[in-house]
Amino acid sequence: MHLVEVDVSTFNRRFRVELDDGAAVEAVLYRGDTLCVSSQVGCAVRCPFCASGARGLARGLSLEELWGQVEGVLQLGHPVARVTVSGVGEPLHNHEQVRAFVLRCRERRLAPSLTTSGGPLPRLAEWLLLPHNGLTISVHAGREATRALLVPKGPALAPLFELLAASLPALSRARRKKVALAYLAMAGRNDGDDELDAFVERARPLGVAVHLYAYNPVASSADAPITRARYEQLYQRMRAAGLVVRMSSQARIEANGGCGTLVAARAASDALLPLTRPA
Ligand code: SF4
Repeated sequence: MHLVEVDVSTFNRRFRVELDDGAAVEAVLYRGDTLCVSSQVGCAVRCPFCASGARGLARGLSLEELWGQVEGVLQLGHPVARVTVSGVGEPLHNHEQVRAFVLRCRERRLAPSLTTSGGPLPRLAEWLLLPHNGLTISVHAGREATRALLVPKGPALAPLFELLAASLPALSRARRKKVALAYLAMAGRNDGDDELDAFVERARPLGVAVHLYAYNPVASSADAPITRARYEQLYQRMRAAGLVVRMSSQARIEANGGCGTLVAARAASDALLPLTRPA
C-alpha cells in the first residue's frame, strides 16, 4: 500500500491510501498530530449525507492496512500522537481488525479513539469496555423516523439508548467521560427545534458529552449545512437544556476535515469523488 498527500489546508492534511488490490480510501491528519484512519473500503450503513458510503461496502481493511495508514504518515515525516478510527467505514462492522489495531495503538502509546453509528448493538456493548481513548456514537436524530433516514443501517434510537442507559452506569467515571454522542446538523433534516428537543430528552439522562458538528457538503449528497447563526442557536438550546456540548473545531470546519467527507474507491478504475460539491 502507498499513501499520497492530496490536500493541505490550514489545519489538516488529507491522504489517499492506495491499497494493493487497487482500492483506495482516505486518511486525514488533524492539527498536525491526530490521524483519522479508515477502517473499510466503503460502508454498509449508507448514511445519505456521507461520501464514504456512497458506493456501498467493498470490504473491511486488514490490521496491516489499518496500521499501514499510521506508518505511511510517519514515513512522510509527520508526527502522530493520537489516532481516531473515524474515516471511511463502520469500525464495528470490522470489529476483529479494528480491535487488534486499537490494542496495537495503545502498545505504541498512540491514544486510539473511534466513531461508530452504534451497531451491531452487542458489539457496541463490547466496545464500551475495550481500552479505547474515546468512543463517539453518531446519533444525528431525536426521532426514529429521522434516524432511519439519516443512519439507515444503524440501530434504531430506542434500543441504542436502552443499551447505553444499561451499560454506562457500570463504567467508572473516567471511562464514562470517554463516551460521547454526535449530532451532525443538516439543513431541513434534523435542525428543527422538535427534533433537537427529542434528542435532548434521550441524551440528557445519560450524562455524556455531545459533539454538535457542522456539516460539510459533499459531491455525492444533496444535503446542505445550516447557517452559522442556526448552528449557534442549536448549541445554546442544547446547553440550556443541560447537555455538555462541544462545537466543531476549526479543523473539522475546514472542507477536508468534516464528518462524512472522506471517500473510497472500490477499484483503481473508480475515480475518487471530488472533495466538495461544486458551487
Ligand atoms: S457516516 Fe459513518 S457510518 Fe454513515 S455511511 Fe459514512 S462512514 Fe458509514
